[in-house]
Amino acid sequence: MERYAEKIRNALPQAVLDIKKESYAAVEGLRAVYALADSEEYLIVDGCKAFQFDGVMHGGPNGVKVCCMNHDNRMIMNKEFAYTAPRAVGRQGASFGCGDRLGIAGAGQLQAVSRAEVIPVLAQQSLRELSLTGRSYDDVMDAAAWAVFKSGYKKGYGADGDHLKNLEEIEAAVNHGVSMITLDCSLVLGDRPESEAQCRALYQKIPKSCRNELEEEYLQKDFGNLGVVFGQRSLERTVVVYKDAVELAQAAYQMLKRSGRQIDLEISLDETDHRTDLKAHYFVANELRRRNVVINSIAPRFVGEFQKAVDYIGEVEAFRANLRGHCRIADYFGHKISVHSGSDKFRVFPVVAEETKGRFHLKTSGTSWLEAVRVIAQTEPALYRDMHKTAAANYQKAGAYYKVDCDLERVKPLDQVRDEELPDYMDQDDARQLLHITYGFMLREDGQLHRRIMEALDRHSGKYREALERHFTRHLSLLGCMKEKTGAEAPGFA
Ligand SMILES: [Zn+2]
Repeated sequence: MERYAEKIRNALPQAVLDIKKESYAAVEGLRAVYALADSEEYLIVDGCKAFQFDGVMHGGPNGVKVCCMNHDNRMIMNKEFAYTAPRAVGRQGASFGCGDRLGIAGAGQLQAVSRAEVIPVLAQQSLRELSLTGRSYDDVMDAAAWAVFKSGYKKGYGADGDHLKNLEEIEAAVNHGVSMITLDCSLVLGDRPESEAQCRALYQKIPKSCRNELEEEYLQKDFGNLGVVFGQRSLERTVVVYKDAVELAQAAYQMLKRSGRQIDLEISLDETDHRTDLKAHYFVANELRRRNVVINSIAPRFVGEFQKAVDYIGEVEAFRANLRGHCRIADYFGHKISVHSGSDKFRVFPVVAEETKGRFHLKTSGTSWLEAVRVIAQTEPALYRDMHKTAAANYQKAGAYYKVDCDLERVKPLDQVRDEELPDYMDQDDARQLLHITYGFMLREDGQLHRRIMEALDRHSGKYREALERHFTRHLSLLGCMKEKTGAEAPGFA
């Protein structure tokens, strides 16, 4: 590395250079490092494979090639340095979804993750988030891959096409190189029948041969002591609600297989008003097994509430009992339990760690955005005030996308808050939810506010990285993933 740095300095004698040694990577025929030259970011490569990259030679034929960190170069880098490309994370151990709506959170997230036993899923974006932020899959995947390269994190990461609802959406995500698909079954989950008679009528529509087969498979059996026993009525209820989700999952799996790549499939049953009972979990998992569909994880809807940006709402011990039942089924079939809207659920993280025995997937998304808002509240009060006003003005509209219990009456009026108190909003649940769900109105591509937010975070990038590292470390500690104690396990850490 030292000799390579020397060579770069010789090739770029006029530039003020900051060569980031931690990013250095080499394979046969190619060396690469991330560097700032006069404060501009570059990928600097040399070797016989360097010709593939789009860039400019410096220092003559034996010099180095200075390249922009753009999409085309990212694709070549993924091919040459496998650790920079997303990969399937598999069914063992813990994995952690790190959403990043701004495309600049990777550095701080990776700093926390690099001290933990966990596979990060860095690019995790739903179509809802893409459309609200005006970003594309390529933007999101580029941001993740460059963050990985720049930080020198070589242990692998995933990319999640999150909450996709049909095969067209899945195909688009797969074509962009994601390594995980989260199939959101909410469009095909049947409504809960309102009455016994209605349930019966729906069930009778299923061909008789299928019904016979289902009854043969499920009725009056005790499945490996899983605590799941179907009677005729509960079987009918489960079948009418979940049968279409099973069919969609099967079609999704076949599509993933055709891609020829290893891609994790997660089945999300959580985006619905009703809780996923253990029978439903068993039925979905068992039907998929009968169809030779291999899934990576299932996200049930648990007891209590997992609202965005705030802690778990409900009885912790009730959640434990509920999760324990789901874990028994997941262990029996071999898939992982996935916890959605998992950010900031500090009360139940230890329970997730214990009950899953460290085999889980947990998704966070907006919390990295809220840490950005916190840094702005601390450092740029005028900008924060403009963001807050935009959030309040668009609260009603944002409610169409996200379901939260936020009560604006409980958010202290902005004109009664002094500058130094602005960060306190980030510790108040209603204000957190307000700023969490309205991000789309602040991050519109054409908006002035978007540009000002990005410029502010660029000025305070070190502070943002530290805030993220601290926040993610707190999550990962309570989830039992840190390699050494951090202090965050102790009560009162915030
Ligand atoms: Zn979900």
